[in-house]
Amino acid sequence: MTQGPTYAYFQGKIVPIEDAKISVMTHAFNYGTGAFGGIRAYWNDEAENLYIFRPLDHFKRLLQSGKLLLMDLPYTPEAMLNILLELLHKENYRNQDIYVRPLVYKSSMGIGVRLHDLACDFTMFSQPFGSYIPNEEGSRVTFSAWRRLDDNMIPARGKITGAYANSALIKTDAVLSGFDEGLVLDQQGHISEGSAENFFMVRDGVVITPPTSSNILEGITRRTVIKLVQDELGLPVQEREIDRTEVFIADEAFFCGTGVQLVAITEVDHRKVGDGKLGPVVRQLRQLYFDLVRGRLPKYCAWNTPVYGTEK
Ligand code: PMP
Repeated sequence: MTQGPTYAYFQGKIVPIEDAKISVMTHAFNYGTGAFGGIRAYWNDEAENLYIFRPLDHFKRLLQSGKLLLMDLPYTPEAMLNILLELLHKENYRNQDIYVRPLVYKSSMGIGVRLHDLACDFTMFSQPFGSYIPNEEGSRVTFSAWRRLDDNMIPARGKITGAYANSALIKTDAVLSGFDEGLVLDQQGHISEGSAENFFMVRDGVVITPPTSSNILEGITRRTVIKLVQDELGLPVQEREIDRTEVFIADEAFFCGTGVQLVAITEVDHRKVGDGKLGPVVRQLRQLYFDLVRGRLPKYCAWNTPVYGTEK
């Protein structure tokens, strides 16, 4: 059932994936001058449909990331969504969950570090995708020796391809040291996020997450989780700076993001978080989150874009 993509949107049209190729001279490949998104679409058995989760929010952020890189793209979020619907119809995925990777990038070829006077383009592909982090109900995490890029270096609020060398350093050092994921500090020594996911902890019934000024990506899952915590669990949420040692004495902690979904952190640098087991807040949030993204919470159905039955 699981297979790679058959098609991609490339240079203005949907083409076989083998034909979606860039040159070794492409600016974005040489200098990291691209930005990307990560969107999930979930299969719902009862509805026999695939639901894309918050696609317009993802495309809006992608265009904002492009703007940071001085890209003027002739697409709206709605136009990008229409292309995605066409792509997923063509792939005709069924009975499986899908990950979508849209990218905007400096497509001119040649040498010269800059952002101006370069062409840009938009491409997108999709593929079946399962879990991103093993041990979703009890991940083991370490504080990375690397620091998060500062807003005045490469803005973390943009999903800029070049910035993911920082994420790759964080992730690989954590995994090669035997952990599931790394937690990274900002320049001031406060918790920023994971290598590719946002961070939350629970202390005394309050759900706490770093503010956008801690050099985090402004995560769409983070925004979703804040809403679920407030409206469904009825717990207060605080966006504030978090000291490293607060995690050691937290009751619960978790990562969230499109890729990781919602993953419990039960151990940080050999110290148990809470009692070292999946806690009640994270358990409830995981349940709510998976029901939500699969299109099983009618109250939030505006966030679920159905793929099938939308043929024009
Ligand atoms: N932080 C980083 C660094 C990320 O790359 C991502 C996306 N994978 C996230 C957070 C989560 O963002 P979102 O919920 O919008 O997927």
